[in-house]
Amino acid sequence: MIFRQLAETFGFRSFRPHQEEIVRAVLNRRDVFAVMPTGGGKSLCYQLPAKIMDGVCVVVSPLIALMKDQVDAARTNGINAATLNSTIPLEEQRKIGSALHRNEIDMLYISPERFNNERFIERLKTLNITFFAIDEAHCISEWGHDFRPDYLALSRIAEEFPNTPLAAFTATATARVSDDIVCRLKLRNPLLVRASFNRPNLFYRVVPKINFHQQLREFLQKHPKDSGIIYRQSRKKVEETAAMLQREGYSALPYHAGMSDEDRHRNQDAFSKDACQIVAATIAFGMGIDKSNVRFVIHGELPKNIEGYYQETGRAGRDSEPAECMLFYSRSDSFILEKFAKDIEDTQARKIALQQLQQMFHYAENQSECRRTVLLRYFGEQYPKHQSSLTLCGGCDYCSDDAEKEDATIPAQKILSAIVRTGEKFGAGQIVDIVTGSNTEKIRQFHHDTLPTYGVGKDKPKTYWKAVINTMLAKEVLNTEDPERPILKLTDSARSILKGRRRFEMIKFLEKEQKERRLSAAELPALSPFGQSVFEKLRELRMSLAQEANVPPYVIFNDRTLHEAALFLPQDKTELLQISGIGEYKAGLYGKHILSAIQECCAADSEAAETSRKTFTPFSGRFAEPPAKQKGGITPTIEETLHLFGQGNSIEQIAALRQLSKGTVYSHFEDAYQSGYAVDSERFFTPERLAQIREWFADSAKEAAELGFTLWRLKPAVEASGGQLDYDEARLARMFLQKEHSQHALDNIP
Ligand code: ADP
Ligand code: MG
Repeated sequence: MIFRQLAETFGFRSFRPHQEEIVRAVLNRRDVFAVMPTGGGKSLCYQLPAKIMDGVCVVVSPLIALMKDQVDAARTNGINAATLNSTIPLEEQRKIGSALHRNEIDMLYISPERFNNERFIERLKTLNITFFAIDEAHCISEWGHDFRPDYLALSRIAEEFPNTPLAAFTATATARVSDDIVCRLKLRNPLLVRASFNRPNLFYRVVPKINFHQQLREFLQKHPKDSGIIYRQSRKKVEETAAMLQREGYSALPYHAGMSDEDRHRNQDAFSKDACQIVAATIAFGMGIDKSNVRFVIHGELPKNIEGYYQETGRAGRDSEPAECMLFYSRSDSFILEKFAKDIEDTQARKIALQQLQQMFHYAENQSECRRTVLLRYFGEQYPKHQSSLTLCGGCDYCSDDAEKEDATIPAQKILSAIVRTGEKFGAGQIVDIVTGSNTEKIRQFHHDTLPTYGVGKDKPKTYWKAVINTMLAKEVLNTEDPERPILKLTDSARSILKGRRRFEMIKFLEKEQKERRLSAAELPALSPFGQSVFEKLRELRMSLAQEANVPPYVIFNDRTLHEAALFLPQDKTELLQISGIGEYKAGLYGKHILSAIQECCAADSEAAETSRKTFTPFSGRFAEPPAKQKGGITPTIEETLHLFGQGNSIEQIAALRQLSKGTVYSHFEDAYQSGYAVDSERFFTPERLAQIREWFADSAKEAAELGFTLWRLKPAVEASGGQLDYDEARLARMFLQKEHSQHALDNIP
């Protein structure tokens, strides 16, 4: 029953962790308290039983402004939801009231203020209430960061409705808040659920901040259409960032507590509805916004604690498609936080704030441990489950292949020497000017142009030297004592570096394609250029459907749904129903539109469509790929390589003939293969050799595999081979192995 409902109503193939357990408990009329991360899928835990049970489920949700979105989202799945709040016209309220009495409503969303009203409670008592669902339940706790006095009224539910079960949900993980919630809501022997806080589709990255707006522009050039949130520390910075983005032609809006309610609501609504791509905001923004296609969350400054950081980054990628969480870090930004924390009057509160800040520093500054490990440790989770020095999350800058570390001992020594020779009396600006040999007033005034270190770093731009200093601050090679005047001072480890007793390393970030670093088995293959054009077309369709229905686009379909549809190009309703996120009801509402949009794309480029399309076996949800076909769209240089290969030349011969490196030739095959060109693995590998390489990859990622990750990391595999495999060959083999693997994963979708 519940599986059928999951497929029919929501169009999902399987439950997310803990959902089934919770749904069953609610159906058995047991109280529930569930802590699940943002994007964990809490809504389904009460929406599904609400749909199944006879009667009305009362959902308490904190923000009236967002209730309409929640109701709309439920309704597009065919769940009869309604809301009663002060913004609803009386006439409408009366209608809802009588529908309630006719037992026609599955879910009633109300605000906590509503509940604190005797007449309303009496009215509720006349209804057939199946259970109460309390969303964002941490709002009841004064220990929580979102405490709302109105929520206190909810402790009356258990008294007024002693026979009605209560299910409470939160993403706030601290034990203190959890205990408080259970106690204040007076839950009776509740099912306690605590989901893992790991969000495998989020990629965590910390970047030294050099010039935020410049770095932001570079990031956005790579994500020109993605929707995202940029958190900034102050209203002023929010305004600046929004204005900068608008000047650059992005659709961006600000959001902060200094704006009028009306403006805030309008901007939030625009973001929700994809009418605005980017919101620049203070942390006032985000709670209760269920927009699922947020592709990045950027922090322009250090947040004040990990809890908050995790909530904010958690707003990315709820649809479980890859999303990026990027923190721009500069030690000097944290001084202000430190100053505020130190200003807290209450001794205990001050201590906690400083301690939390310390943990946040540690997260940002840490250069020797996986980011996910640090985050999850904060929530009391051990990750990876086994004690191991092997890092394997594959989803953070530290663990991914693209985190290339470089030795920067000599540049560090140059900086340190400049600091020492100027008596540890100057800030980063002056030190950089000395090293780069700038001719400024201040340089001449202090005769810094006579120092031996003057101009020793001319060969590199100032931004590079600033990054070196920032990393040194982050690693506490340097520190600054007075937050007001950030003067650089040496620490003991600086002295060791200066004397050459210690190396200094920096992470060098190389952006790569997102697909390169994706890890989980549930991951979808990347879209071909044709697939991408279908995705765009469907995205536009989603937008116009959303505008017509006056609901946010994510309510219609999430990005995962579009991605699957663009990949598998369903041709009829049966195939459409196999796509995640499309249930009977939605297929009925929008099916025709999607199918005809897909057909249009396919008709426009039938050859590309055929290559791109994965054949679809109805009912089983299995996707099988047709044999790759030779295809145009390959650059002349790749064509040349393929031509020579076709004539029977080996890789070595091609490399010699074309005066290219072997690696380049390999990369030609990779590109060709990815754009659908049939490359036969047997021209490169005997089946035995390929099997052997497969084993090296598997050996080097055993621990990851136990945790359900499939990693294809080159370095460990090369190492595991003990000298029998080089990078070029590993890379080429990986291309075949990965394909074989994803084929296998797709074949095994239940
Ligand atoms: P939360 O309230 O816990 O932050 P939501 O209830 O908003 O999370 O769900 C986040 C996203 O996950 C939504 O887009 C929802 O459609 C999707 N989702 C929930 N459950 C599943 C599931 N079993 N399979 C696929 N997607 C799901
Ligand atoms: Mg939610």
